[in-house]
This record gives sequence, structure tokens and C-alpha cells, in this order.
Amino acid sequence: MSFSEMNFSAWLPLAHAPIDLLAVLLLALGIKGLGKVRSARSANRLAAVAMALAVLGLLLQQGLGGWPWWLAGSLLGSLLGVLVAQRVAMTSMPQVVALFNGCGGMASLLVALAAAALPDPPKLLVALSIGVSVLVGGITFSGSLVAMAKLEDWLQTPAWMLQPARHWLNGLTAVSCLGLGWLACVGHPWALLPLAGLSLLLGVGLTLPIGGADMPVVISLLNSYSGVAAAAAGFVVGSELLIVAGAMVGAAGLILTQVMCRAMNRSLTSVLFGGALGGGNVGSSDQGEYSNVTSCSPEECAMTLEQAQRVVFVPGYGLAVAQAQHSLREVAQLLERHGVEVRYAIHPVAGRMPGHMNVLLAEADVPYDQLVEMESINPDFPRTDVVIVLGANDVVNPQARTDPSSPLYGMPVLHVEEATTVFVVKRSLGAGYAGIRNSLFECPNTSMIFGDAKQVLNGLLQELRELGVGKAPAAKDLAKVG
Ligand code: NDP
Repeated sequence: MSFSEMNFSAWLPLAHAPIDLLAVLLLALGIKGLGKVRSARSANRLAAVAMALAVLGLLLQQGLGGWPWWLAGSLLGSLLGVLVAQRVAMTSMPQVVALFNGCGGMASLLVALAAAALPDPPKLLVALSIGVSVLVGGITFSGSLVAMAKLEDWLQTPAWMLQPARHWLNGLTAVSCLGLGWLACVGHPWALLPLAGLSLLLGVGLTLPIGGADMPVVISLLNSYSGVAAAAAGFVVGSELLIVAGAMVGAAGLILTQVMCRAMNRSLTSVLFGGALGGGNVGSSDQGEYSNVTSCSPEECAMTLEQAQRVVFVPGYGLAVAQAQHSLREVAQLLERHGVEVRYAIHPVAGRMPGHMNVLLAEADVPYDQLVEMESINPDFPRTDVVIVLGANDVVNPQARTDPSSPLYGMPVLHVEEATTVFVVKRSLGAGYAGIRNSLFECPNTSMIFGDAKQVLNGLLQELRELGVGKAPAAKDLAKVG
């Protein structure tokens, strides 16, 4: 048989298996690589290649049928993805993640509804998967949109949503969803439409009361849901690849949810059913009055730094807003040349998304080994000369340890107040994301430096240079050599 006589259409559908396998492998490697800052970029690229291979594999499985549609859809989706990724500010990344989760949920819901509209009645497993796809996909879609709107401050939790009666309402909706799902499974496909409507309502009912510092947990949980919905859609369309990829996303999202809960000392149940934590998104804020707050200038801070041997920077959301990471790096480099040991204390929920601070500092080429996790750096604060808190607030609030009535009570925080001197750089005495006052500002060893983080750091840089810090070998180093 000559090459031209070979029946391509016969073997094309078989060619998808190795491609699918490669896609799954690359996706797994991608997810693993995302766990480390150093490998995150290349891991993201691996996952993108895996997605492209997945589309190709599915196309081959279908014998190339309707390829212009596939191509058009993939190109349009990729273009939108690139545009969003290029335009979004680092501080708005959680909103984008929420939006992408929502799109995943809606895609699974639509695939399941389309499969249910086929003339042949589905087998029990497929019918069950259709029900799960519609239910979880609907919850993920509306829940993610609510989460995005809350993070963007477009939406507040209405007071009635915090009443205990909402649990009954959500419970009733959930039971109705299960009933409709059962009806759809036993041969009444019409039940899928009201099921889709009620699951969208349930997503709103479950997410709207949650707010404040609990938002990161909800976003990662919704991420997990989108994986579950995708895995169920994989059973619906008979795609092993989608089942595996969905299961991986579902499991990864669940693990991240657990990690976030642990970082905030919150149980998942209290996040989901406890209502809004703190005032970040519910409008209440126990900011109180401050007394005995000391403030100083960058010049005074520079003079203290000149004498320091161990300095810890605590980056927070405000550093990201001010885009001050490069100025921070310059200050740190001057201090290092002066013989100062410089480290960065990384709180797991500092910023507005998991890993936010790691990414921000990596952007400014801060060496990875200088980033120290909360558990490791906390015991070191008593032997630290200077801590500079940059646009962080909730993650350094001592009330989380000392005040049982505080909404943050129990959340593990950085024990910065144990250092000899603490400088807090922020624009005002205003509250952080959780909307509560911070007793750190009143500690006797704390001085506030009011101003935008970038301006303060640039001022500090100038003062340090004027003091000659980092120019010549530090006197303490020469003494050591001597
Ligand atoms: P916070 O939100 O608690 O505080 C940030 C502080 O930055 C504010 O008090 C603000 O004070 C200051 N700030 C804002 N802009 C500037 C600026 N240009 N220059 C200097 N300071 C500025 O941040 P943290 O990082 O301490 O805590 C994170 C909080 O966000 C936690 O409650 C966490 O649970 C929550 N969260 C975390 C997510 C995550 O996944 N990591 C996701 C969502 C929420 P001022 O206005 O006075 O300048």
C-alpha cells in the first residue's frame, strides 16, 4: 500500500491517545512546578502547551470534524486570555482567577446541557455526570462572579444575607437541586433547566455572605469546584483527558483551600457558613481611635538602619499597590553592601492572593533564599534590630494573638512587635482588608512613616546614600576583618 493509499481517517482517531497522555503529563508537571517561584513561569508555559495538545488530541479523536470551528474557538479564547493577562494589574489577579473559574464552570454546564439535548437517552453514569456538571458548574459560575464583584468592590454583602435564615434558604435550594438532579437521571431531561437556574441561585446564596479575609479561601474552593465540574463534563463527553485534568484541578484547589484555611486559622465550615469575617467587604469597620502613635521621617529611619545588623522587610498589599518592589530591592542592596543581613518575611495571605508577595519580589530579582516563610521567621524577630512593614496591615496585627474579641483572633500573624524597632510604612492609620484597627501602631517600639510606599522607599534610599551607607565597606565589617 502506497503512502497516498493509506486511510488517514481510520487511524487519525487512534493518534489522540499518545497526545492525550503527553498533555496529562505536562499538565501534572505544570501544576507541580507552580508550587515554586523559581519554576512557576516555565510551569505555566508547560500547562499552556498541555492545553494546546489537549485541543489537538480531542480534534484527532473526533476525526478532524468541524476543525474550522475548533480553530476559531481556540484562537478567540487564546486572544481573550492574552489580552486579559496583559492588561490586568497584579493586585487584581484574584478577580481574574475568579472570572476564569467561573468561565470553566459555565463551560461544563453548557457542555452537559448540550449532551442532554442529544436524541439518544444517556446511560445512568452519563446522566449522573450531566447532573453533577450542571449543578457544580452553575454554582461555580455564579459564585465566581459574586466573588469577583466583591473583590472589585462592586458588591457588598446585604445585611439580610447575614441572617441565620439564609442557611435554611440555601438548604432548601440544595435539596431542590438534588431532587431535580434525580429526576433528570431517571429520564426527565427537562429537569436540567430548573436545576441550572437553582444551582446559579445557590452559587450566589453561598458566596454572597462570605467576605473580608475569607475571600482567598472561597476563590480557591471555587477553583476546586471548576475542576470537579470539568471532570464530570469529561464523563459526559467521554474524554479521559478532561476527567484527569478536571480531577487534578479539583484536588489542587482543595489542597490550596486547606493551606489557606490553616494560614488563617479558620475551618472551612466557618468560612462557608460563618458569614463575613471582619469588615473588609461588609462595610463595618472597627477602626477605633489611636492614642500614642509615634511617627518619624525616612531620615530617622535611615539613621536607625545605618546602625542595624539584622533587618527584616515585611511586604504587604500596599507595596504591590505602590509598585515599590524595585525601590525596596535597591534599599536592600545598599544595606547588604553595608554588611546588614536582610530578609523578607512572607505571610501566606499577605497581599490579595496566595503567593502574591513571592511573585512581586521575584519581579524585582530579590534572591529566593532571602524570602522566609512565617513559621521560620517568627522565632527570629526577638533578635532582629529593625523590621520595616511596607503596606502590610492585617498580617502584622498583634490583636490576632492577644484579643479574643478581634475578628482576626487565631489567624497566625508575623510577630514583628518582638523586634527592637519597627517602622510601619503606610499612607494613614486606615485599616487593612479585614477592616479592623491594628494595635501594632501603638506599640512603644513602633514608628509610623506616613506616605506612599514607593515615595518613602525612594526617600529612604536618598537618605541612606547621604549617610554613605553601602558606599564603602561598613565599619563593622572592617572591625570583623581586623
Ligand atoms: P492589608 O490589606 O491588611 O493592608 C494593606 C495596607 O496597605 C493598608 O492598610 C493600606 O493603608 C496600605 N496601603 C495601601 N496602598 C498603599 C500605598 N500606596 N503605599 C503604602 N501603603 C499602602 O494587607 P496585608 O497584606 O497585610 O493583608 C492581606 C489581607 O488581605 C489579609 O486580611 C488577607 O486575609 C486578605 N486577603 C488575602 C488574599 C490572599 O490570597 N493573599 C486574598 C484576599 C484577601 P493606607 O490606606 O493607610 O495606606
